[in-house]
Amino acid sequence: MERKILLSEKEMPQAWYNVAADLPTPLAPPIHPVTKKPVGPQDLAPIFPMELIKQEVSTERWIAIPQPVQEVLKLWRPTPLVRALNLEKKLGTPAHIYYKNESVSPAGSHKPNTAIAQAYYNKMEGVTRLTTETGAGQWGSAISFACAQFGLKCKVYMVRVSYDQKPYRKSLMRLWGGEVVASPSKDTEAGRNILAANPNSTGSLGIAISEAVEDAAKHEDTKYTLGSVLNHVMLHQTVIGLEVEKQLAMAGEKPDVLIGCTGGGSNFSGLVLPFVPLKLKGRPDLRFVAVEPTACPSLTKGPFRYDFGDTAGMTPLLKMNTLGHTFMPSGIHAGGLRYHGMSPIVSHLKENGLCEAVAYAQNPVFEAAVMFAMTEGIVVAPETAHAVRAAIDEALRCKAEKKARTIVFNLSGHGHFDLSAYDAYLNKQLSDYEHPEEAIAEALTHLPKMD
Ligand SMILES: *Cc1c(COP(=O)(O)O)cnc(C)c1O
Repeated sequence: MERKILLSEKEMPQAWYNVAADLPTPLAPPIHPVTKKPVGPQDLAPIFPMELIKQEVSTERWIAIPQPVQEVLKLWRPTPLVRALNLEKKLGTPAHIYYKNESVSPAGSHKPNTAIAQAYYNKMEGVTRLTTETGAGQWGSAISFACAQFGLKCKVYMVRVSYDQKPYRKSLMRLWGGEVVASPSKDTEAGRNILAANPNSTGSLGIAISEAVEDAAKHEDTKYTLGSVLNHVMLHQTVIGLEVEKQLAMAGEKPDVLIGCTGGGSNFSGLVLPFVPLKLKGRPDLRFVAVEPTACPSLTKGPFRYDFGDTAGMTPLLKMNTLGHTFMPSGIHAGGLRYHGMSPIVSHLKENGLCEAVAYAQNPVFEAAVMFAMTEGIVVAPETAHAVRAAIDEALRCKAEKKARTIVFNLSGHGHFDLSAYDAYLNKQLSDYEHPEEAIAEALTHLPKMD
């Protein structure tokens, strides 16, 4: 029995798959917050390069991956698909469990797949400096690495609570040449406003996005980058699922359940979107499961509505599952899953019954991650641990039903910078938190009016 299913460099995808070409109903367009009309390319031009704006609205099925982007991706791609034989044995399940190991990238997660593409297109259009926000620091390190590859400057607004809790992610960004400040910061009007109202603000992704967008809008040489949520990010991540398709075929497997954790939806999309045509044509039983924390349940509890992407209300309105842009996350350890919204593509799939969502609390999630580390050896990121929990539960269901199904989950990142979270779990210091219904109801009263 082969554990690792490996592709050669020559078998790496040459084009990204754009699901917009195959969706049964079209995606709702992003809306201008003032005019309430769909945003045009000229509205986005101050913050994004034109090539990415085109990808954002494209309905072409295949978009060629530029050669220089492929060359950088080859530093770690194709990534292995691995059969979790030890975990299967431990669970005593007839299921076949596979994981796609995206933790082998330089930054330790799937995020460089889009960071490299975004840095490249900005470079080609004469941009010299990029800004972004980062929560747990995964995206900030991915974009710092990408900027180093293409000779761009980079400024990262890092959510205050992570800035204080994750000093090594900060070191990683700095060693790849990124400049890092804690958000809210004094460097932007958005940051200064938040600090004036609450000097002890621990920050949020929404606030950090406001700061990074403002910085880009105010500097001629600078554009903004986002590590998740937007359509072009989902597009760049499809290299994951395209590789998995080939790898499963090599192993003689047909997938039954595909699983990914969801913060903004990009690693989940990267895995499942290339399988959407298969689900639509002939495999309606193929299941896509998005896994989120009970502390930030945008897909399981947030309604499908137009909302801002940031806290200050500067971005276009996106139709998505949202907890409201005023959402303040609790301090759970899966920092990358603490965003109030969700990718419009993932939200659209959910709305149309093409994917399902489940939410888990922290303790069962870390319990699964520890079992995975004990059996398969890899210490996964707290975000990824959500996908591990769901994969284990699916495998246990297979055991109860005496059914052999093929389960694939996306191992979106390693947890080498998250060991303090594991310590907290092992010391029984983690609390299970459920985002209260009243807080959701209150936040929804602040959604933009659409009529
Ligand atoms: C950022 C991150 C996530 C969440 O973001 P998505 O866009 O939903 O994928 C999940 N896992 C890891 C390791 C991350 O770094």
